Amino acid sequence: MNKPLQHGEDTAPDTTGAALRITEIFYSLQGEARTVGLPTVFVRLTGCPLRCEYCDTAYAFSGGEMMALERILERVAAYRPRYVTVTGGEPLAQPNCLPLLSHLCDAGYEVSLETSGAMTVAGVDPRVVKVLDLKTPASAEMHRNDYGNIPLLTPRDQVKFVICDRADFEWARFKLDEYTLAGRVSDVLFSPSHGALPGRQLAEWILEDNLPVRMQLQLHKYLWDDAPGH
Ligand code: SF4
Repeated sequence: MNKPLQHGEDTAPDTTGAALRITEIFYSLQGEARTVGLPTVFVRLTGCPLRCEYCDTAYAFSGGEMMALERILERVAAYRPRYVTVTGGEPLAQPNCLPLLSHLCDAGYEVSLETSGAMTVAGVDPRVVKVLDLKTPASAEMHRNDYGNIPLLTPRDQVKFVICDRADFEWARFKLDEYTLAGRVSDVLFSPSHGALPGRQLAEWILEDNLPVRMQLQLHKYLWDDAPGH
């Protein structure tokens, strides 16, 4: 296995022969987070150790195609993007995700990583914007949250809560306070679970409590009805 690239090393590790299992690489509009609406290349890595109740990417749990890191970089470059998002599944479940992220940064893209929050982000290149989920009770995967990730977040990063019901909202509000998240990251994102909680309801709860969060609706679900490849 190749040694992950540690940012700041004088000598880049040899990633010749490194490969990752990829579900899809596609160009679309960013559907959520701070860069919502911006044309972005998505690299969706295969595999996830979690099974969230509301998962909308179960097709990425298995299958996929092994691709050499160099080939992935070529596929991304062909779109001439400004923004690249590495997502899954859980991308950090593949150790070669770390050198992939660093190579994407080296190529000059603005790179973000969408991660479940269940695996450490300690080795992630600091140039990458981390969008870290905190799994709520209704996800049925709350016990997988690695709170050791919170001190590793920087003011460039974002924390996301997918909220299914009032109990999730109250839990998220508690975590917002407990970890002073609004002062720690650039954006705390509250997202209604599609089909489970009306966006208007979540909006009203946020306003009632005057929370310092950004509510988001997932743009791709409105534009493309959540079809893979968008
Ligand atoms: S972490 Fe993401 S990809 Fe994995 S099961 Fe949960 S929602 Fe699906």
